[in-house]
Amino acid sequence: MLSFDSPSGPPGPEDVVFVFAGQDCIGDLMASPGSPWRWNEVVRVFGERDVVPVGYWQQQPAFAVDLEPEKVDPLRHIPSSLYSLLGRIDDALFSAQGRAFQLLKWQRDHQFCGRCGSKTELGDSGRGLACARCELMQYPRLAPCVIFLIQRGEQILLAQANHRRATFYSTLAGFVEPGESAEQAIEREAYEEVGVQVSDIQYFRSQAWPFPGQLMLGFFAQYAGGELRPDGDEILEAGWFDAHNLPPLPPMTSISGQLISHGLVNDQA
Ligand SMILES: [Zn+2]
Repeated sequence: MLSFDSPSGPPGPEDVVFVFAGQDCIGDLMASPGSPWRWNEVVRVFGERDVVPVGYWQQQPAFAVDLEPEKVDPLRHIPSSLYSLLGRIDDALFSAQGRAFQLLKWQRDHQFCGRCGSKTELGDSGRGLACARCELMQYPRLAPCVIFLIQRGEQILLAQANHRRATFYSTLAGFVEPGESAEQAIEREAYEEVGVQVSDIQYFRSQAWPFPGQLMLGFFAQYAGGELRPDGDEILEAGWFDAHNLPPLPPMTSISGQLISHGLVNDQA
């Protein structure tokens, strides 16, 4: 398991390092997928690097390192997208890799103060990036997203989204807007994306979704009216399905897969 306390000081030889090159998690060809490195291996293979503190992985101080893509040797290293590791590696290890990925991206994207333009540096015990000039503190940004299954009797509403991974039908989802509750976001998204009203919104569970920094908040909602009308922009197709008539579905590693499975099981009970 990963503890979120921030290790202080530079890494020691046996400390744990999550290695990325841009979007890809970098593994050693001889190690199991998603395994972190030791700091002495990183230094030997890639040289001394800047590190981002991540926490403690199995009681060992853990850091993240971002490589230039040309440092990756295709004969010795395996680049894997974080998404491809979901469900293939242990959940706790995936969470740790996801946290490392998000912290690296956050540091890469916030090297300068958004208010005065000065250089930032780690502050607040490694949890934030502080501006030395105006003292603005910036913390890693999470984007709350609602993801919800609309039910109508024994049927569930599934939709094909208009983005590159959508080879399957899934639940609806959308970002929570400033000033909005999760329930209001669900009502708005249901109407905008497929033209239906919903009621009786019930919380299910949540999932950290580091692609690149969402917190997915899962809900069930009941159909309450309206004609199914995909917006043609975010949603290409949408329809009502039941347990005997299902399209290709998202994997059970995602909260959408879990919502669908749970929603159908409840209906059959
Ligand atoms: Zn500043």
